[in-house]
Amino acid sequence: MSGPKLRVLPLGGLGEIGKNMMAVEYDGRIVVVDTGLRFPTAEMLGIDLVLPDFTYLKERAEDIDAIVITHGHEDHLGALPWVMRELNRQGVNPPVYSTRLTIAMARSKLDEHKLKEVDLNDVRPGDEIAAGPFDVELVRMTHSIPDACAVALHTELGTVLVTGDYKFDQTPVDDKPADFSRLAELGRDGILLLAGDSTNADRPGYSPSESGVGPHLEEVFSRCEGRIVVTAFASNIHRVQQVVDAASELDRKVALVGRSMRKNVGIGRSLGHIDVPDGMLIQPQEVEDFPDHRVVVISTGSQGEPLSALRRMAHNDHRQIQLRRGDTVVFSATPIPGNERAVSDTVDRLYQIGCDVVTTADAPIHASGHGYQEELKLMLNLVKPRYVLPVHGDHKRIRLHGQLAEQVGIDPDDIFAGDNGLPLEIDEHGARFVDPEQAGMIFVDGVDIGDPADTALRDRRTLSADGIFIVVATISGQDGKPVHDPEVIFRGVPFMDDSDELAEEIRREIELILSRAADDKIREIEELQQELHEELAAFVYSRLKRRPMVLPVVVEV
Ligand SMILES: [Zn+2]
Ligand SMILES: [Zn+2]
Repeated sequence: MSGPKLRVLPLGGLGEIGKNMMAVEYDGRIVVVDTGLRFPTAEMLGIDLVLPDFTYLKERAEDIDAIVITHGHEDHLGALPWVMRELNRQGVNPPVYSTRLTIAMARSKLDEHKLKEVDLNDVRPGDEIAAGPFDVELVRMTHSIPDACAVALHTELGTVLVTGDYKFDQTPVDDKPADFSRLAELGRDGILLLAGDSTNADRPGYSPSESGVGPHLEEVFSRCEGRIVVTAFASNIHRVQQVVDAASELDRKVALVGRSMRKNVGIGRSLGHIDVPDGMLIQPQEVEDFPDHRVVVISTGSQGEPLSALRRMAHNDHRQIQLRRGDTVVFSATPIPGNERAVSDTVDRLYQIGCDVVTTADAPIHASGHGYQEELKLMLNLVKPRYVLPVHGDHKRIRLHGQLAEQVGIDPDDIFAGDNGLPLEIDEHGARFVDPEQAGMIFVDGVDIGDPADTALRDRRTLSADGIFIVVATISGQDGKPVHDPEVIFRGVPFMDDSDELAEEIRREIELILSRAADDKIREIEELQQELHEELAAFVYSRLKRRPMVLPVVVEV
């Protein structure tokens, strides 16, 4: 007879960048590690956010003993309000644990959603957290946001270590490196499963230290004669600190622009993660009151996000900051995969205005928050896991992370290339994937949750890509034959203009379809419209190789 099983179920973050969420289950009880979201891609028109499909957590709500968040990035924390609202709706309110900064960010997020009753607990690395059959422990790591942690979940069967996002920065800006000795201790005591960050599994060597970025920023700043606008992730508090330090060296004032930038710097200052000299911060509307060479603006929008401050500035649409020739815009971030086009659009707009643009291609003014290959191997060697489940990466990087594990001597049979919704089950006999659970995407439009199979979304996508045909046909009430020329209206259909003879061909095609239907004694309006829809869509596709939406309206007179 075998004892209780351990089950590790990733609900997001595998085969994609974003929406990290994992249910770790032992003896029927669950601890959730991370509740992240993802930002929509260009095809997801009108969608604001993407959440992991967490049906599994809803169905198992009663069994959840705790939620643990590794760090404050949106792809780990962002879905918490939606998850908590759903659990609360079922009368369940499991405690949420994380470090101080992450909890402060969670609180501000939950407040915005008017969720005041959530049981938030800030804990320190090393504290013992009892959660059902689990003893949970946070282990300090370094990343591109302060207070990032790995999570060790100790059970009677063994310990699962979820690394969260990490790099091994030997000289972090806050002088708090990862807790190497605790990781080594955990390794000596035995790690059953390592679920590790795969983001940079394709990059050889070691990631550069965050503290190396500051001097390069200062060097870039020293060459600027006009105003400087720096854009970075608002949550990258150490980066903001380094921008402030460089500005201070060059006797420039700093203005913070963008809601999330002001919010995160506010939280960071109140918790002592960021230090701004007195009198150095100015309001965005005061920027014009200072000479150009005395100002640095720190702005959101490094990813070209549509509503971000920088994007607005680039489109001359920002209330307080009007960019002009002589300004330099410094991108202290690289685009997340999927955002490249939005970023290059923004950059080009800036050139059009006459700004100079400095990116990471010009100077080493960004350091990734995720370890490279040698750091992933270091983690594997420190904790010596029995089994490995690479997470946080597309399938390619998950595979590469598995290969790194092989290189340090882990048996290929003990390395599991997983997927969202695929549970890895571990007992004393071994580890194996078992039957998949429901997983996928939930779209958020505003604050409402929509069905992923949402027809409105599909329609918006079709309309944006291939346009629409509206066809109005009139048939006789006597014999069902078409009465006069059908009307064809089209909008946004590629390769078509008003003079196009294709429109004429479509009219003839409609008459043909309707006459044939009349001969076949088809008189139901619904059925005629369906017929027109199918045949016209096929006809248009055969001519244009496009699939515009076809909306037929049949009127009987
Ligand atoms: Zn992440
Ligand atoms: Zn992160």
